Amino acid sequence: MIITNGKIITWGKPNEIIEGKAILTQGQEISKIDLKENLIKEFPDEEILDANGQYIMPGLICAHTHFYGAYSRGLAIPGDPPEAFPQILEKLWWALDKSLDDESVSSSAWVCIIDAIKHGNTTLIDHHASPNAIHNSLDLIANVVEESGIRASLCYEVTDRDGDEKAKAGIKENVRFINRIKHGDNLNGRLAATFGLHASLTLSDQTLDLCREANSEGVGFHIHVAEHPVDEYDSIKISGLRVVDRLFNKGILGEKSIVAHAVHIDAKEIELLASTKTWVTHQPRSNMNNAVGIGNMESMMRAGVKVCLGNDGFSNTMWDEWKTTYLVHKLVNLDPRRMGGYDVVEMGIHQNSALASQQFGLPIGSITPGSQADLIFVDYHPFTEMTAGNLPWHILFGMHHSMVTMTMVAGRVLMKNRELVDLDEDKIFQKAFNNHKDVWAKYNQQF
Ligand SMILES: [Zn+2]
Repeated sequence: MIITNGKIITWGKPNEIIEGKAILTQGQEISKIDLKENLIKEFPDEEILDANGQYIMPGLICAHTHFYGAYSRGLAIPGDPPEAFPQILEKLWWALDKSLDDESVSSSAWVCIIDAIKHGNTTLIDHHASPNAIHNSLDLIANVVEESGIRASLCYEVTDRDGDEKAKAGIKENVRFINRIKHGDNLNGRLAATFGLHASLTLSDQTLDLCREANSEGVGFHIHVAEHPVDEYDSIKISGLRVVDRLFNKGILGEKSIVAHAVHIDAKEIELLASTKTWVTHQPRSNMNNAVGIGNMESMMRAGVKVCLGNDGFSNTMWDEWKTTYLVHKLVNLDPRRMGGYDVVEMGIHQNSALASQQFGLPIGSITPGSQADLIFVDYHPFTEMTAGNLPWHILFGMHHSMVTMTMVAGRVLMKNRELVDLDEDKIFQKAFNNHKDVWAKYNQQF
């Protein structure tokens, strides 16, 4: 395919905005950037996709999400409102995930992935839980990934909170799915796996040992860390160690592992995350919603920690996460100089791209020959000069997800002119809607 008539934002290093050139994609890859005339002459049979003067940029990447939380939308938590994060876990998430069956696991993934495609998010790293439908749950989600055309990395959150049998079933589900991926059944690199762990506060030493032993393929772990102080105090109580120290001792950290949140870690823990090259993901909308505080991401980056951006199950609109990041660090520090646009780009573009490229074993997240053709068109009309230098602020203050008109993953157009190409959105949403009363009834039965 030859993509013509667009302004190309490469998100390479250094970033460039290229005008007057076209992009050739072949198979799943971007293979050339050249003058339109040259590409058409050399590849006369290629289909032409006219960008109509829009910006073309790499699709957005989400480093930490939860498809399983979809049915929380509009759900009333019974009784008194939760006072703090531990009650939110118990009254919302741990009751909602128990309400899911095979069908609702699948529907949850569908609605989140449709949301992602429509808003230009092309790669998602998911963290799944469904304690009453563990076996094969990752394959059910993988089926949605396959059919929808999105790119996703999946895992199952192992936890001891539902007893020994379910902890072991969670381990088994991760191992089963990791083996599937390692045997090459990975949708040509659109599917990847991590080994999921819920959080230190729901994992015994014995279960952590079992997980490390079971992870014989050596994929990265994916775990929530110190989202609330309770995770730190629980860890100190059971092990005498802070959370990151405990996970380090258990062999959970490392250059492929992902730690979500890290809000309440101390300086020594930051140093451990940096020295082990562990990924950290920041989800400010979730942190604000749960009132758990905001991690010191600037210090972590300064200390050499690889900090990425995720959405923790919020809407699949990563620019909203960018904007929240940009704003909230100024507010909590009472200082407008904090968290500049380049810091947000470092997380949301460069680190997220590096994480995605590592996860899928393919170059993802920039418009350069050899990179995966994960692209979006953005119908943005700047009324002031826009350069590679001030682009972060044009995105932060000017671009919206409603401006995304085309989404392509691995060379396949999934949305064109704001319409999904091969998917029946109404049918998918109707199916999800039909399921929701059953999920909500099961949720309410637990109180
Ligand atoms: Zn999470």
